[in-house]
Amino acid sequence: MPEGPEVRRYAQAIHSALSGQPIASLTARTKAAKAYLAAEEPHLIGRRIERVFSHGKNLIGQIEGGYYFYSHLMMWGSWRVLPHSSPFEVDRRERARIVVLGGATAILVSAPIFEVGHGNPLNEIAALRHLGPDILPYPCAGHFAASCFLERLLSAEHRERAIGAALLDQTIAAGIGNYLRAEILFRCRINPFVRAVDLPQSALQELCQVIPEIASRALEAAGVTVSEAEQQRIRGDRSLLYPNGTPEWGSRHAVFRRTNLPCLNCGVKIQQKRQVTRQLETGEDKERIIYFCPNCQHVEVGPK
Ligand SMILES: [Zn+2]
Repeated sequence: MPEGPEVRRYAQAIHSALSGQPIASLTARTKAAKAYLAAEEPHLIGRRIERVFSHGKNLIGQIEGGYYFYSHLMMWGSWRVLPHSSPFEVDRRERARIVVLGGATAILVSAPIFEVGHGNPLNEIAALRHLGPDILPYPCAGHFAASCFLERLLSAEHRERAIGAALLDQTIAAGIGNYLRAEILFRCRINPFVRAVDLPQSALQELCQVIPEIASRALEAAGVTVSEAEQQRIRGDRSLLYPNGTPEWGSRHAVFRRTNLPCLNCGVKIQQKRQVTRQLETGEDKERIIYFCPNCQHVEVGPK
């Protein structure tokens, strides 16, 4: 599932291929965008795409004249960006296609949420109104807004929640998904099942530092969360890889999808458990797998 770093890379790719160019065509298959475009498409043609950016897992394109497009990839969505004019067949999974003058094209595939509208998308789109601070702040926005994150995490609404569940809540911090939360908590040696309110001040401070650090590493290194040195160490030691796994994929993370492999710190086997989390998009409770080192993160693992 695409998390903050993956969505940022899509935003960067679409921005560099399409921005500054006038729109030649904009088509969509999602209900909301179809209805909007049926009435407004003629007003959009010829307008330049000004900027494409992301906040958490949300991607927003600003179009000249106060228009915007918006996507959320949910579990399976992706963007394909074709920098030059090249034929690309429409398949049944396509949800939207933006073509600019000169032929550069962005195609949204398998994502259920795509909208087009007018006004400030941060106000117009319900899912964007309550987002927490972005784990990948743009340089112009300064550093990760740690005080805002802590205020939300320790609010009456969230303080009793397990930290592992709270980190997935996009209204607390925007952009963390399942791999990032496992890696962040492991790096901070925090038990995912401890309530936010029970975390010592030192753990909270460390979280504020590690969240943007790991997110930036994942952005630069295509989703890799461990350091280069750790990656080399894992690749060079067969005991740190699954017998049939490839070193490339097996060396990306410290705990995520590494159940039963030795912890990089202490050698104890990584474990997994189910944790109840709440989905922002649906408001429903859902179980997600959390990966952790029972020793480093002080998690009691019951009998199997
Ligand atoms: Zn350990």
